Amino acid sequence: MSTESKKKKNAKRKANSPLVGAHMSIAGGVSKSFARGEAASCRTMQIFTKNANQWKANPLVEEEVEAFRKERKRSGITPVVAHDSYLINIASPEGKKRGMSKRALLEEVERVEALGIEYLVMHPGAHMGAGEEEGIRTIIASLNEIHRKTEGYRMKILLETTAGQGTNLGYRFEQIEAMIDGVDDPDRLGVCMDTCHIFAAGYDLRTEEGYEKTIKELFARFGRKKILCVHVNDSLKPFESRVDRHAHIGEGEIGREGFRYLMQDPRFAKVPKILETPKGGKMEMDLINLGLLRRFATGKTG
Ligand code: MN
Ligand code: MN
Ligand code: ZN
Repeated sequence: MSTESKKKKNAKRKANSPLVGAHMSIAGGVSKSFARGEAASCRTMQIFTKNANQWKANPLVEEEVEAFRKERKRSGITPVVAHDSYLINIASPEGKKRGMSKRALLEEVERVEALGIEYLVMHPGAHMGAGEEEGIRTIIASLNEIHRKTEGYRMKILLETTAGQGTNLGYRFEQIEAMIDGVDDPDRLGVCMDTCHIFAAGYDLRTEEGYEKTIKELFARFGRKKILCVHVNDSLKPFESRVDRHAHIGEGEIGREGFRYLMQDPRFAKVPKILETPKGGKMEMDLINLGLLRRFATGKTG
């Protein structure tokens, strides 16, 4: 076979393989994430666009943006999903903390748009004692502010379902639904479903009936088009524990069956499915977990 037709065949195989990937490090610059994604067999991936544990970020320089776009094209890894910093809480009842959070989120939205990244996944926020309804109102107001300052942007913010640890909101689908319905421009928002989080929050995925009931409710609340990313994590902590600890695929409380349902569900075929599980020293656990997900998709593994 000629090199050209081999290339075509490989490209076709890649395009037909499940849309799975993992969170990748940006050490050395955002563009460096693609080579890591390739090494871990990612078709899609998630990154931070800055250090997730710091407020400050060095501004993106033109060369970095260009290198990012080039590497993305070369690797074929798409879509790329960004995740926001863990420090951000746009639900905070404290004006100072909320102000810092909105500024930091605005910066991240700008970075994501500059890089041509489709989605920025964020945790809706924690009400810190102000109460759930008040927290949701604050989130809506904060999102409206961000939207107003970034009019015309193509990127979308995806609100992530949470485990509901502490005062974190978004552990019920109806809370995220209220946020989306509450903003002035709901078309600019989508949803990221994290399997570990929803399971810990009390949405079952372990049996076919449980899985169907959960996904049916998800689609009934948001519509299929709004579910733009799935975080594929097993849960170290039990059902309804409201504690967020990720486990390797099939080794947690959800177990293999739940992930088999997900991987064989045609409704999620075009949705990026991204691991946030421990990677191991040389990303070997990403290779193992992604391999498992691909086998679940073919239905070949027992
Ligand atoms: Mn998250
Ligand atoms: Mn997640
Ligand atoms: Zn989590």
